[in-house]
Amino acid sequence: MTDVINKLCVVGVGLIGGSLARSLRDARYVREIVGYGRSLGNLQQAMELGVIDSAAVSVGEAVRNADMIVLALPVGTMPEILQALAPVLPDAAVMTDVGSVKGSVIAAARAALGSRFAHFVPGHPIAGTEQSGVAASLPDLFVERRVILTPEAETDKSAVDKVRAMWQATGAEVVAMPAAEHDALLAASSHLPHLLAYALVDMLVRRDDHRAVFDCIAGGFRDFTRIAASDPVMWRDICLANRTAILDVLRQYRDDLGDLVQAVERGDGHWLLDTFNRAKHARDALNKKL
Ligand code: NAP
Repeated sequence: MTDVINKLCVVGVGLIGGSLARSLRDARYVREIVGYGRSLGNLQQAMELGVIDSAAVSVGEAVRNADMIVLALPVGTMPEILQALAPVLPDAAVMTDVGSVKGSVIAAARAALGSRFAHFVPGHPIAGTEQSGVAASLPDLFVERRVILTPEAETDKSAVDKVRAMWQATGAEVVAMPAAEHDALLAASSHLPHLLAYALVDMLVRRDDHRAVFDCIAGGFRDFTRIAASDPVMWRDICLANRTAILDVLRQYRDDLGDLVQAVERGDGHWLLDTFNRAKHARDALNKKL
């Protein structure tokens, strides 16, 4: 294999960073994997699970001789880590990230990296679960899932090719689009559903009779709210980093919810049936993709 990575540095060995490491190792696409993070306990666990070969205690040590560096931490922590990495980046290294928002990460990378920004390829795998941490990582998480790269005008073409090849080695389909388009699409497809799930569970748990309500839950509640078990820090960061696009869809949803309230108030069965029919047909058609 010609494109194999010699030394991969995973900064933030959690669900996504750990899954990428596992998957590249299984594909024999990487020779050595070093992990970096805040806590040695987590990195120790990652070594015991065979996800990484070694743990670095400083960013300088982590990226030494690395040819691929992957930032897999919460979006809100990216500016600080990019500032720390900038002075110690090896000349030959390509860097990418997995953050769920692209505009804010690109702004942070551009501010921190100077001329090395050309070797930073912004990316986002559209795969995950509501769990976090390296123990939840899966070697097949990205198989047949989409990875979106959002290169900028200055981004080096060969760096993009290297990052694309890395993700293809995991079994993912790689596409490219502008960062603003990514952020608007993901606000609708991912960020809004997470916010609604959190808001619904929080509204219910604040009711005096919430215990009785939760005694009556079944499949519908489970399916709608599974993602409310996701990491709150990660989702706070995503909300703050993608505020404009999220506000657009949140306000649209609030307006549509207002229409729903009025339809129920006036007992408008036609309106309700039309709405539910449109949604059911759209949802049925999506089944093949899910
Ligand atoms: P995760 O399981 O919580 O892993 C993140 C890792 O980052 C942790 O293991 C932690 O390791 C490290 N970390 C956290 N805060 C840090 C800090 N301040 N400084 C240094 N390291 C820190 O989260 P994840 O789900 O893998 O998400 C990682 C990134 O992937 C996020 O940007 C998220 O937006 C994106 N993403 C997530 C999903 C998903 O479904 N979960 C899907 C696509 C993309 P240590 O304890 O060792 O520091």
